[in-house]
Amino acid sequence: MAKEYDVIIIGAGPGGLTAALYASRANLSVLLLDRGPYGGQMNNTDAIDNYPGFSEVKGPELSEKMYQSVMKFKPDFEYGDVQQVTLDGIKKIVKTDTAEYTAPAVIIATGADHKHLNVPGEEEYSGRGVSYCAVCDAAFFKGEDVAVIGGGDSAVEEGVYLSQMAKSVTIIHRRDKLRAQPTLQKRAFAKDNINFIWNAQTEAIDGDGQKVTGITYKDKETGEIKTLPVAGVFIYVGVLAQTKPFEDLGILDSHGWIPTDEHMKTKVPGIFALGDVRQKDLRQIANAVGDGSIAGQEAYNYLQSLND
Ligand code: NAP
Repeated sequence: MAKEYDVIIIGAGPGGLTAALYASRANLSVLLLDRGPYGGQMNNTDAIDNYPGFSEVKGPELSEKMYQSVMKFKPDFEYGDVQQVTLDGIKKIVKTDTAEYTAPAVIIATGADHKHLNVPGEEEYSGRGVSYCAVCDAAFFKGEDVAVIGGGDSAVEEGVYLSQMAKSVTIIHRRDKLRAQPTLQKRAFAKDNINFIWNAQTEAIDGDGQKVTGITYKDKETGEIKTLPVAGVFIYVGVLAQTKPFEDLGILDSHGWIPTDEHMKTKVPGIFALGDVRQKDLRQIANAVGDGSIAGQEAYNYLQSLND
């Protein structure tokens, strides 16, 4: 028998946690599901300095603080890798790899995951020098030369983090200007052991069969193919919506993001979306938390409207 709730929240990052706080505090029965630890991407972030109330806080510490403040209102928190959400009248059925749950209201807070570069060597050396998480893997590259690919907030922020342990960090970017916020750029430019290669297209990640030994890239100005010897390659070339389980609901845009209105409502009544998984420009902890408060309250309003 599927367990019944008022609201099921899929994803326990900062937005999902906040939605759980608002919905549980409104006395609804709430299930918070995640296929990993609570906190989402905050767990892979070293220092956060753009979340109000903290001049600087470690990602895992902020996750723990958020989780504890939410659990005070006693939502259920369970492991579950959601495979599909289907509709049965106003009821939504959420199937995970191990269980089935139903609720009239579902909040999607599954966020986004890293994009791959799709070049030779990337898959072969994944976990053997290729990484998508500096906080997880930087310690393996103490005193080594590493490369970071990308020019956005993640590439620059993680490049700065890596520079504390690695001998040198080379940020390889496909243009001659970074996309990252000016504060992050300033921090990176101030580091003596961070170098930049501009207008470079990564062609391959090279290795010796066991581990990464370097990178091959094309100088886009001259067309010349060049190599850079490195022990590690950290790839930060953008993010992909985590929306596969929701494909059949008809709520995704052509890139897989979920458009919502300002009430976090999707096209399907009773299904809300928040945070990084939404079709939007700015993906931050602060606005995921804002979205979460709205979604939690709107789920409550939706349930009230069913009784009118
Ligand atoms: P992003 O902002 O989409 O940046 C991706 C970067 O990778 C861009 O510089 C892009 O180049 C480059 N790129 C894309 N495809 C590429 C390819 N095939 N080959 C080489 N380079 C490629 O992604 P992100 O940095 O992961 O950030 C994702 C979201 O999280 C953003 O909204 C960001 O603001 C947010 N975030 C915020 C913080 C913070 O506030 N501290 C930290 C991390 C992330 P172009 O510039 O040429 O497009």
